[in-house]
Amino acid sequence: MALRKMIRVGEKTSPWIKRQLKEAGLKAEDIKCKEDLAKLPYTTKDTLRENYPFGLLACPLDKVVRFHASSGTTGKSTVVYYTQEDINVWSGLMARVLKTTGLTNKDIMQIIYNYGFFTGGFGFHYGAEKLGVSVIPSGSGNTKKQLEIMKDFNTTSFTSTPSYALHLAEVAKEMGMDPDKDLKLRQGVFGGEPWSEAIRKQIEKSFGIDAYDNYGLSEMCGPGIACECEQKDGLHFWEDYFILEVIDPKTGEVLPEGEKGELVFTPLWKEAMPLLRYRTRDISRIIVDECECGLPFRKIERITGRSDDMLIIRGVNIFPSQIEEVISMHPAFKGHYQIVVEKKGFMDSITINMEVTEKLFSGSLSDLLKVQRELEESLRSTFFIKADVKLVEEGSMPRSVGKAQRVIDLRGVKK
Ligand SMILES: [Zn+2]
Repeated sequence: MALRKMIRVGEKTSPWIKRQLKEAGLKAEDIKCKEDLAKLPYTTKDTLRENYPFGLLACPLDKVVRFHASSGTTGKSTVVYYTQEDINVWSGLMARVLKTTGLTNKDIMQIIYNYGFFTGGFGFHYGAEKLGVSVIPSGSGNTKKQLEIMKDFNTTSFTSTPSYALHLAEVAKEMGMDPDKDLKLRQGVFGGEPWSEAIRKQIEKSFGIDAYDNYGLSEMCGPGIACECEQKDGLHFWEDYFILEVIDPKTGEVLPEGEKGELVFTPLWKEAMPLLRYRTRDISRIIVDECECGLPFRKIERITGRSDDMLIIRGVNIFPSQIEEVISMHPAFKGHYQIVVEKKGFMDSITINMEVTEKLFSGSLSDLLKVQRELEESLRSTFFIKADVKLVEEGSMPRSVGKAQRVIDLRGVKK
C-alpha cells in the first residue's frame, strides 16, 4: 500500500518524518492504515518555516530539479522542492484536473498566472501540455494585451484568479469588446482565492463560459489536488494520491466524515518533500453523496475560507466569504468589495465598501440609501452584529492581477 511504503521510505530519508514518528513513539511499520495516521503529530506551515530552506529535503540535492516558494505574507517564506518524478506526477494530476473540467487537445488555453516561485503558472502549464492542450503562457498582468491575445489566438479557455477574471471582463468592455460575442472562450478554470457562486455566475455571464473551481496548495504540489466536474457542485479530490483528514482546527481532533473542519492532507508519492498530515488551514467538508458524473473520487465542498482568515468581530466568528455570500445576493453587487475592520474606541467596527454601477452611484440619493439599508439589514440579520455599508463608484477600488485583497484589518495597527 502506498501509505506504508511512503512512511517506510520517509523514516529513512526525511529527518522530519523520523522526528514525527519518534515523537509518537512509533516505528514506520506501526502505521498500517489511514486510521493509524491519527497517532502522528501534524506538520504545519511553521514546520516549513523552521526548516527553511532545505531542512525537509528527503533526497540528495542533486536529484532536485525545481524549487517553488510561497510569498510569505505572514513571516518568512516557505520553500518546496521537486524531483523529476514529483514534477511528472504533478503534471499528471493537473492534466486530470483539466480533463475533468472538459478540456481536450482541441482547446487553446491562456495561462494568466504568474510564472515564478508561485506554483499556479507552471502547474497549469505542465498539466495542459500533458493533456495536449495548446498553451499560451501569457503570465499575469497587462490586461489589454491579454484580451488582444485572446481575440487573435481564438483562445477557448483561460485560468486566473476569479477577481482578475472579473477585471478582464470590465477592461474588455472599456475596450469596446463584448467578451461573450467577440471572444471564442468556452470555459475557464479559476482558483487561488475563495469565491462565491455569485462571482461564478458573473464570470460565466460576462464571457459566456463555464467557470470551474480548482484547489491546491504549494506544500502538496501546487494546483492539482481537487477540481469541479461538469456538475459544479463540489470538488473531486484525487484520493489515489492524497489521504484527506478533516479536523477540528481548535482541538486538532479528527472529525467524522461529512463534518466541516480544517483539511489535512498526506500526499502518497512525493520524493523530494514527503509530508505527513499537513494542516492546510483551509476549511471545508467531505461530501458523502456520490456524484452524478461517475468519477470514483469523493468531493469536498468549495473552500469557504482559511482558519487564519477568520475574523473575530465583537466575539462573532466570520469568514470573509460568508460576507461575500450575503452581499452577493443583492442585485446591486458587481463583484468588487473590501472589508475594513478597525477599532473605534474599544469596539470592533466593520465596514463593507462595495462597488455599484455608475448609474446607481450617480442616480438618486434615495435609491442609493435604500440599497445601503438593505445590505446592512441582511448583514445584521445574518451575523447579529452591525456592519456599515459604504457604496462606492464602479472602478474606484484597486484591481489586482493575482489574489484580491478583500480584508483590511486595521486593529492592532497604530495610527
Ligand atoms: Zn462529479
